Amino acid sequence: MPFQQTPPQLGNQYEDDRVLRSYLARVLPADMLREIEVSLAEMGRLAGGELYQLQLADRLNEPRMTQWDAWGNRIDKIELTPLWRVAEGIAVEHGVVATAYEQKHGSLSRVHQCALAYLFTPSTDIYSCPLAMTDGAARTLLGSGNQALIDRAVPHLITRVAGQFWTAGQWMTELTGGSDVGLTETVARQDPESGAYRLYGRKWFTSAISSQMALTLARPEGNPPGGRGLALFYVETRDPTGRPRNVEVNRLKDKLGTRKVPTAELTLNGTPAQLVKGTTDGIRNIAPLLNITRLWNGISAVALMRRGVALAADYSRKRIAFGVALSEKPLHMDTLAGLEAEAEAAFHLAFYVAELTGRSETGEISDDDAALLRLLTPIMKLTTAKQAVAVASEVLECFGGAGYVEDTGLPMLLRDSQVLPIWEGTTNVLAVDTLRALNEDSLRVFQSAVTKLAGNFPPALDHATSWYTRISDRSVLEAGARRFALTLGRTIELALLLNHARSSGDQQSMVNARRFAALGVDLIIDDYPQQ
Ligand SMILES: Cc1cc2nc3c(=O)[nH]c(=O)nc-3n(C[C@H](O)[C@H](O)[C@H](O)COP(=O)(O)OP(=O)(O)OC[C@H]3O[C@@H](n4cnc5c(N)ncnc54)[C@H](O)[C@@H]3O)c2cc1C
Repeated sequence: MPFQQTPPQLGNQYEDDRVLRSYLARVLPADMLREIEVSLAEMGRLAGGELYQLQLADRLNEPRMTQWDAWGNRIDKIELTPLWRVAEGIAVEHGVVATAYEQKHGSLSRVHQCALAYLFTPSTDIYSCPLAMTDGAARTLLGSGNQALIDRAVPHLITRVAGQFWTAGQWMTELTGGSDVGLTETVARQDPESGAYRLYGRKWFTSAISSQMALTLARPEGNPPGGRGLALFYVETRDPTGRPRNVEVNRLKDKLGTRKVPTAELTLNGTPAQLVKGTTDGIRNIAPLLNITRLWNGISAVALMRRGVALAADYSRKRIAFGVALSEKPLHMDTLAGLEAEAEAAFHLAFYVAELTGRSETGEISDDDAALLRLLTPIMKLTTAKQAVAVASEVLECFGGAGYVEDTGLPMLLRDSQVLPIWEGTTNVLAVDTLRALNEDSLRVFQSAVTKLAGNFPPALDHATSWYTRISDRSVLEAGARRFALTLGRTIELALLLNHARSSGDQQSMVNARRFAALGVDLIIDDYPQQ
């Protein structure tokens, strides 16, 4: 018999996940875990079984746009792929958004929801993108005090009834920039008689243009330039017959990854829109949405890392080299152990932010923890996103040439991870945001959280703090902001990992903590040559 390689396989992605299970056993009350475990095991079964198989089979399908109908009408119809259609049904039925709003378990409902999202994400080709924006839109509208919009849209966003579900888009980025959205050129014109607004402008990246609604930024005529002059608007993309509401989809982007996500370039040509909250301060008013999508970004990062590590670990037991399985080769296993340590450290940070987010949503958060959440959201997003790209790249190498071959489904892991540091704020933009969130109070809160979790004041934190307090020149501070933010991120990841290992008694977590510490936490460079 000629040699035949056995491909990697996945089991139940909940049951096989030591990290998720030991984390949930530590943070959830036993009766809550018993109650929700059924839903997690079912999602784990789907993610490792039918959905994974469908994902592989759907690999070459992409969303399609038909711009004109047979009679010359502009319809810009978007057809999603079979995987995405199935994914939507599963997400709605299993409450991948709804769970956070039903709040059956108070603030811990957010952790339950993130666990579902974490299991669901790696088998559904970034369907997490519209879900994240849907979740963020629901949170933003609920906090806006705009009862008419809450009554109109939120029931659709958080429903478990398939035919009633809406997803939401977030249209911020324009040609002028996604980081500096204060440059937004879209104008909102008010009808002097009815008071209704219509939007005119171009949006340059709008993901999941299949969404039924979107939150977007535009400048009401007469408002000043810059971020303050922007207002937050609510848009319904299509009329009841399915026709676009003066929104033209110019084309779908041809992207490196996230190929199932229909990301469009739009022209808004008199698009009817409603103010969400006042005629100014749109950037501030859309912040709740970004906090939620950044949390989803972190959960997606750890989910994709977990998938890569699971596949690589399974393959190591199936691939023979030099007479033994790769799992018998010390260097290969050392490589895998490094990936596992990165993935577990990132996991604890993303879920810690989920815990804090849940408490902020139910109002059970102290002022200190609220300051910590504000600081940790950008830190968590930028740290986990960078880890995801590095881990995915190494995972591909763990498969040798097969990792580079499309129909294994593996290259997609790297391409899809690569978007995580770009959207929802790039690494540098979030590093600068970290500086913005940092003050005496938040630094003290961060230091005391890390000290409590780690059981000591880690040397990396000492180094980062002394660097930050010593530098008075703003340009030097900004130049080091990425290294600083990543050092804070890796420091708290290590502290969380140590805390988890000690309080859960999970020996593997302690092994991972030691390895993670050895891989490097402190990235501060004291005297980097200036240009
Ligand atoms: C697949 C995909 C889907 C997307 N979907 C959406 C969507 O649905 N809605 C939406 O609104 N946007 C979306 N985006 C856009 C995305 O959010 C932006 O691309 C991103 O925010 C960066 O903006 P930009 O592309 O204009 O880059 P720029 O803002 O031009 O940034 C270029 C570079 O400059 C750096 N930079 C910028 N400012 C600073 C600073 N102050 N200090 C240091 N460095 C800085 C950045 O880090 C980056 O490296 C999507 C992007 C992608 C790739």
